[in-house]
Amino acid sequence: MLSTSSYLINDKKYSFLKDLELKEVNHGVFNGNWTGNGEITKSISPSNGKIIAEIKNGNKNDYEDCVKASEEAYKVWADLPLPKRGEIVRQIGNALREKIEPLGKLVSLEMGKILPEGIGEVQEYVDICDYAVGLSRSLNGAIIPSERPGHALLEKWNPLGLIGVISAFNFPIAVYGWNSAIAMVCGDTILWKPAPTTPLVSIATINIISKVLEQNGINSAVATLCNGGADIGKNLATDTRIKLLSFTGSTQVGHQVGVEVQKRFGKHLLELGGNNAIIVNEDADIDMVITSTVFACAGTAGQRCTTTRRLIIHEKVYDEVLSRLKKAYSQIINRIGDPLDSKTLLGPLHSAESVAKFEQTISEAQKQGGAIEFGGKLVGSTGFFVEPTIISGLKHDSPVVHSECFAPIVYILKASNLKEAISWNNEVPQGLSSSLFTQNVNNIFEWIGPFGSDCGIINVNIPTSGAEIGGAFGGEKHTGGGRESGSDSWKQYMRRSTITINHSRELPLAQGIKFE
Ligand code: NAD
Repeated sequence: MLSTSSYLINDKKYSFLKDLELKEVNHGVFNGNWTGNGEITKSISPSNGKIIAEIKNGNKNDYEDCVKASEEAYKVWADLPLPKRGEIVRQIGNALREKIEPLGKLVSLEMGKILPEGIGEVQEYVDICDYAVGLSRSLNGAIIPSERPGHALLEKWNPLGLIGVISAFNFPIAVYGWNSAIAMVCGDTILWKPAPTTPLVSIATINIISKVLEQNGINSAVATLCNGGADIGKNLATDTRIKLLSFTGSTQVGHQVGVEVQKRFGKHLLELGGNNAIIVNEDADIDMVITSTVFACAGTAGQRCTTTRRLIIHEKVYDEVLSRLKKAYSQIINRIGDPLDSKTLLGPLHSAESVAKFEQTISEAQKQGGAIEFGGKLVGSTGFFVEPTIISGLKHDSPVVHSECFAPIVYILKASNLKEAISWNNEVPQGLSSSLFTQNVNNIFEWIGPFGSDCGIINVNIPTSGAEIGGAFGGEKHTGGGRESGSDSWKQYMRRSTITINHSRELPLAQGIKFE
């Protein structure tokens, strides 16, 4: 049974923890068996700052055991027919469906996002499992016309081997889901190092996956787990046995990871920070803008990589948008509270450190000329709650506007035309998500064209957040250039071979070269 702090066990509100059937939860490492010989980490509830449970992290030896076990599991896993691996991923999707509520609640308890979003995250994993099952019957290579008679030119995809996933606190399950469901059908095995502050979600997730693997007679070290901090992350970055390292986190850490992986000519997939803007053009539908903007700026307490951080408004509609936005904010401020409570719209920030960064950014913004239009303060005395905040009066290129603060702060900027707004959208170092509200078809095509938004995600009349799994997800520039989830992202989890087979008795050279 789950060994958590006693206040959770005795409170009916947390009875969902029983449904997760966790055993030996104190062990934060899974190498086919649960273990953990590193330091003890505390999982803290962001809504009251209390300890949820204590977990034993992995140390260097535990990491080593995970790698070896996963490499062993790969020998059988990679040899299974793709649709057979797809069938197992289908069962994992079903097992997640069965646990969607308790697991979603655990996400809310440990990360701090509101329950519909906690459940939504598990749903995202379920969706990507379905997507991966389809992929397991459709992922294909190519036959390319050969210029040489009696030759066949083929393109074939093979699994990479063991891949590493380092994930961020804000999506403690979905990011692992995006990577693992696709990597699994591709034939890879996966070693996961989650954020140090969300260990319980990772343990509950791997517990579900390992049971499905075992029920199918598969070595459960296909999906290993090593909880820990930067030390374990660094091991993954420098280890040549990790054939692809998928990293989700801040630009600063992602840069270090990218350099380390590059030093050993490894492959990496980087999903880093964003600084996303919504442009509200003069012809925008303002009702749609207000509804979209409130969730995009303040939802998840501003802790989505795709949260809107800049609102670039045409001068003709600036006053109207600002005053209506303030009105909408004053309604949601009464709905700040426990993320597990169904009435709550705004949960807490994830940690005391996030609250400190919020305060620091507000004071920085004020020093740089910003005026607080709404919010700016901490809420309550327990937990990590802050007010959703709107700041005006800053220049579009103020340093604070160009950096990402992972909190519900939006800067509003007044632009005189669409060209100027697009240039401001593009001038920041990050390039994740962007959106334009307009009713004019010419503007739309300018926005999605070569001189439009330079981001990986370009939206029209929807906000910057809330991507679907079918498309490739990721961003340009300091966001890292990686693409996860749908479209042809699966190719990153595989090794491409170009194969030429001579089925004639002649030896013609390419380009008609004669060597006689
Ligand atoms: P973070 O960079 O602090 O940590 C991310 C992960 O890196 C954690 O697991 C951490 O333990 C690990 N880590 C820390 N130092 C390391 C090192 N030297 N080597 C290897 N690993 C190391 O990020 P965070 O605070 O957990 O998450 C918030 C950030 O993640 C934001 O910047 C957000 O925009 C970004 N993010 C991006 C996406 C995306 O898809 N683009 C999605 C979610 C979050």
